[in-house]
Amino acid sequence: MVYHGSAKLSFRVLLTSALVLATVPALAATNPETSESENETTAIPVAELAEDEDVEDVERSEPLQSKLPAPDKEPEQPSDSETVAAPSTTPAEQPARKIAPNIDLKEVVDKPQAEAEPKPETEAAPVPAKATSFTLLGNEVLPGTSTRLAWSPGIQIAGLSQPTPVLVVNGANAGPTLCLTGAIHGDELNGIEIIRRTVYDLNPDKLNGRVVGIPIVNLPGFQQGSRYLPDRRDLNRHFPGSEDGSLADRIAHSLFENIIRRCNMLVDIHTGSLKRTNLPQLRADMNNPDVATFTQGFDRMAVVHSSGSPGMLRSAAVAAGITTVTMEAGESHRIQEHQIEAGVNSLTSLMEKQGMISRMFVWGDPEPIYYDSDWIRAAHGGILFSEVKLGDRVTEGEILGYVADPITNAQHPIRSSANGRIIGMAVDQVVMAGFAAYHIGTEAEVPGE
Ligand SMILES: [Zn+2]
Repeated sequence: MVYHGSAKLSFRVLLTSALVLATVPALAATNPETSESENETTAIPVAELAEDEDVEDVERSEPLQSKLPAPDKEPEQPSDSETVAAPSTTPAEQPARKIAPNIDLKEVVDKPQAEAEPKPETEAAPVPAKATSFTLLGNEVLPGTSTRLAWSPGIQIAGLSQPTPVLVVNGANAGPTLCLTGAIHGDELNGIEIIRRTVYDLNPDKLNGRVVGIPIVNLPGFQQGSRYLPDRRDLNRHFPGSEDGSLADRIAHSLFENIIRRCNMLVDIHTGSLKRTNLPQLRADMNNPDVATFTQGFDRMAVVHSSGSPGMLRSAAVAAGITTVTMEAGESHRIQEHQIEAGVNSLTSLMEKQGMISRMFVWGDPEPIYYDSDWIRAAHGGILFSEVKLGDRVTEGEILGYVADPITNAQHPIRSSANGRIIGMAVDQVVMAGFAAYHIGTEAEVPGE
């Protein structure tokens, strides 16, 4: 993508370069379905970011097949979501080359683990079904231990390569393998902290199953404050990847084959993109019975039905039989305490529900499931000023905000298309026509009717 000035941008000359950078991709993305003449008449030209999972994930979603998850399950797959899968069923158990050192993850370290001395023996041999060793990335993680491993997709100059830390807690007792991925988009920071708090709070002696956390999947993007990979590709459009494809394909392939395939359940943590924010929510394919059941384990987390787009980690993992949801928590580029707390709380309830931990957990009121949702787009370019807040309930026709044209002084209201709730929205900013500004969730009829 080339960032050159164009006639279309001339009225934005006064704006900062950062704003121009943020808006040019929207111009560059063409939509074949919308003709030029339609643009003029309908006044809603669609200038959609090709890589905006926040919007397209939901907009291109398959409709829900039934309000009720189908009771029949695939016979060949043991249900990972309700029952505890035996560790021996975990696929692709490779022979271990070395035993991973047992590290107290609560202890602060100077740097992400050099080769420490292995401590092979464990102390306790508890009563319930004992866990087996967990082999990951060529290391054997003994039951009742936790450790830091390193994943390297092997795309860098060997001598300069910087491996990505992988946190592993192998519980003393058998149970499912829950994986947590953060910062697949390098500028989405809340998930990094959600994973840190969740994993570091686990006691391996009291854990049934395993938790694998990869707080920063896209390490190069994180270091540059960028959503993308160094080749400007969106990693979350390249799963499950391929060995001999683009840089993004190779990284996706390496992550998927080395780590993701070892998981029974996966929570991929994201935030809104392009200065949009979300209520804490899950994106889940509610047409998939295992996924639909899985979402019930997340306390105080709204669920937005979305079948997912090709290349997303969630879609690829579900296709590989791994029960997966995306968790959306707040805005990119920010660390937001309330969003982090909501995420940690919800993952704690999930582990409780899955029988992995036993804690005094107080469940909140169930959050709604939004089987239908709509993105409402700005019909005009200008400066967006919102009249509503995240979480507000709105009625059809209600004014959600205005787009003010700083040159002509025209003010264009944006109205709600439905009765519902604001589950995601853009923060006040400069927008172009077609920018997805408000995400309205429409609650479903109660399942079980
Ligand atoms: Zn993301």
